[in-house]
Amino acid sequence: MGGGARGALLLLCAVLRMKRLNCGSLGTKRMPLLVMKFGGTSVGDLARIRNAATKVKSEVDRGFDVIVIVSAMSGKTNELVGWVNATSALYDAREYDAVVASGENVTAGLMALALQEMDVPARSWQGWQVPIQTTSAHSAARFVDIPRANIDQKFDQGMKVAVVAGFQGLSPEGRITTLGRGGSDTTAVAFAAAFDAERCDIYTDVDGIYTTDPRITTKARKLDHIAYEEMLELASLGAKVLQTRSVELAMRYKVRLRVLSSFDETDETSGTLVCDEEDIMESRVVSGVAYSRDEAKMTLQAVADRPGIAAAIFGPLAEAGVNVDMIVQNISEDGHTDMTFSCPTDQVLRAETALNAARDRGDIEFQGLVADRDVAKVSVVGIGMRSHAGVAAKMFKVLAAEGINIKVITTSEIKISVLIDRKYMELAVQALHDAFDMDKAA
Ligand code: ASP
Ligand code: MG
Repeated sequence: MGGGARGALLLLCAVLRMKRLNCGSLGTKRMPLLVMKFGGTSVGDLARIRNAATKVKSEVDRGFDVIVIVSAMSGKTNELVGWVNATSALYDAREYDAVVASGENVTAGLMALALQEMDVPARSWQGWQVPIQTTSAHSAARFVDIPRANIDQKFDQGMKVAVVAGFQGLSPEGRITTLGRGGSDTTAVAFAAAFDAERCDIYTDVDGIYTTDPRITTKARKLDHIAYEEMLELASLGAKVLQTRSVELAMRYKVRLRVLSSFDETDETSGTLVCDEEDIMESRVVSGVAYSRDEAKMTLQAVADRPGIAAAIFGPLAEAGVNVDMIVQNISEDGHTDMTFSCPTDQVLRAETALNAARDRGDIEFQGLVADRDVAKVSVVGIGMRSHAGVAAKMFKVLAAEGINIKVITTSEIKISVLIDRKYMELAVQALHDAFDMDKAA
């Protein structure tokens, strides 16, 4: 909680500073600016780096100045993480970041070279050269400020493309930091906000955001637009296209974010635009169905029901780093109640340890602790739910017709999630996709 609030505050400070800097550069006439981000598979080998450079060149030819954000070549970050672990089991987090950030440095330099070969004036920047200022939370750092002066100066001198290594920054202590896996997306959005970019294009290995995973149903359809809030729900529900934090940042600073493929011919209309809901013309109730395969359902049986009991249970779970998602408290009988929650399967052990320790300390009492590791979460998401009743009822009916038992339900304004047996997950996604006509454009 505290960390989140502090993060938000830092972000706020950052945007205020960004705005000031923008005013400072109003005097010079500059080309409109685009941020283009290339993920690991899009820069996976030298031919692909060249292909990405071609896409950058065509935007320059169209009249844009470009900031390119690059990921490490695919597989590189995993390899670097492996090297760190093999060298030191209880590694120094600062050296972890020093090693793991290096993958992006390689692609930044290579991308600048590829552009120069095409006669595009380009140069590379490592995070510390900008300097991208972050907190000192190593491997999970957050942006504090992105000063524009160094890069602006080069644009003013005729540079057309600044290639910036994604995923990294500099701590107040002067050490290299990284932003957490998938962090280059967030670098891209932060640069788009700091430099007032027209748009932030995220080039990846899929051609956009789909109504659901095309591997589960061939009827999955690519969306032209999706609202920030919907994308946030989908991102955090396991659609792994964008790092969740990048979408939060885009929503806060109204950065128009486009997801498109680096392997297709692309133009202005390609991909999916993640934008404000006011900019979406189609009227649809449900936009997508998401799933999360590796969920576990844990139940504390016969917990003494008294004020403070939820805090006594979920406090230690939070401290142990368990990501609790759904929570249900049953009706109380004779002063006892069952408390059920869900968490990722690989955190069950951690949750059990924390709860048993709390019981040993006398902080909570319960009769049993049961873990069901074979569940999955399926969710329907759509901003249209705000104004349409009956989505939940329809969802439950569809699952009932397939004979799928619902174990836990939670809802928010734009999302309904259910926990079901994992073996029915694909079936549930397909049935819901059909029932809500998600294959048809609204
Ligand atoms: N290379 C980093 C990772 O794999 C950051 C990124 O690609 O977004 O997590
Ligand atoms: Mg990624």
